[in-house]
Amino acid sequence: MEFKNSLEFAQKLDVVDPLREYRDEFHFPQVKGKDVIYFTGNSLGLQPKRSQKFVDDIMKDWKDLAVEGHFHAEKPWWDYHERLAAPLAKVVGAKTQEVSVMNTLTVNLHMLMVSFYRPTQKRFKIICEEKAFPSDQYMLNSQVEFHGLDPKTAIVEVKKRSSGNFWHTQDVIDKINEVGDELALVLIGGVNYYNGQVFNMEAITKAAKAQGAFVGWDLAHGVGNVALKLHEWDVDFAAWCSYKYMNSGPGNASGIFVNEKYLNSKDIPRFEGWWGTKKETRFLMKPEFEPMENADAWQVSNPPVLSLAPYLASLEMFDEVGMETLITKRKLIVAYLEFILQEIDKETDGSFEIITPEDRGCQLSVFLHGQGKELFNYLMENGVVTDWREPNVIRLAPAPFYCSFADMYNFGQILKSGIQAKK
Ligand SMILES: *Cc1c(COP(=O)(O)O)cnc(C)c1O
Repeated sequence: MEFKNSLEFAQKLDVVDPLREYRDEFHFPQVKGKDVIYFTGNSLGLQPKRSQKFVDDIMKDWKDLAVEGHFHAEKPWWDYHERLAAPLAKVVGAKTQEVSVMNTLTVNLHMLMVSFYRPTQKRFKIICEEKAFPSDQYMLNSQVEFHGLDPKTAIVEVKKRSSGNFWHTQDVIDKINEVGDELALVLIGGVNYYNGQVFNMEAITKAAKAQGAFVGWDLAHGVGNVALKLHEWDVDFAAWCSYKYMNSGPGNASGIFVNEKYLNSKDIPRFEGWWGTKKETRFLMKPEFEPMENADAWQVSNPPVLSLAPYLASLEMFDEVGMETLITKRKLIVAYLEFILQEIDKETDGSFEIITPEDRGCQLSVFLHGQGKELFNYLMENGVVTDWREPNVIRLAPAPFYCSFADMYNFGQILKSGIQAKK
């Protein structure tokens, strides 16, 4: 398709957008009396209007039923989390029994490390990407130290090439083969938070398993964004948060994937709690732990239903629309945004550069030459919400659920006037 940098062209794309009606399903913040152009769905997704009712329902049941709500609420609380597994499994390409919702992301990574990182004298190394998301670095370091090992030798980072802004799949695979039988685990952010790169999860998983290692993916930026086939790729485990592209609300619950082959496996230990025991006998309060036969065996506590409520509302929307439709629109709107950026770049004499490689999802990271924070501030003042990363990068993520093509055009015009005003 030949793109045009015009409002008329953008509006034509909006008219044929199969998701156009969903824009109105979300609350947009306002700047100067107008809906903002929201590019930070990769950080905190907008609030779906329908999530209010899901939360209100819980508040009402709590008010009217109190403790009886556990079993007699409209959606009983004691197994509320089970409602999320089936729609979420579709989003991540898993079987329903491989998915569960609990805790928060970094907590779940720790919990899954208990199961999947059990270093031996020979096999103790972890491969991750250099400059992983800080929480993941702290998590990995503290796990390694917990086992009495030194992160300097146990953690092996795959670097970007000196000339480039991204990781080469071959470099990851070469590193896996180099570490060989010392490799215990590969744990990488499947979609990088900084440059927006999508790793070749299938190829990396295969290479790591060929060396006899476990493979886990942090999908904070992947879930609800890119095509995931965790089961088919034979991934061992994964975890993600739900407040980025999944629009579930600030700090909200995390999802986990545990490959079906480890369900009911005596070889895989866990940290356990009462919500991981069999439903049928849970309230007999017996001393023996009888694990649930699905990923709920990793559940520890009774579910935080007030946070699961907006997550369930959001999953209902993902289920209505399906990942395929979201991904089709995402590809088109990101391509259009890139085109708009290139046009504005030409008109303003090379003011910036896109550092996101071709293997990408929703996010374009733009390195600003010359001007930095003041341009970011100008955008914010003019109703464009982006986010800023040191040293000089803005990240733009046009979430397909609620961003329009006209947003992309209008953003280009505001960006241009911002650059010109500061020149
Ligand atoms: C957003 C994000 C997190 C956040 O973790 P929380 O425990 O939910 O605060 C962790 N890792 C990555 C890669 C992220 O992008």
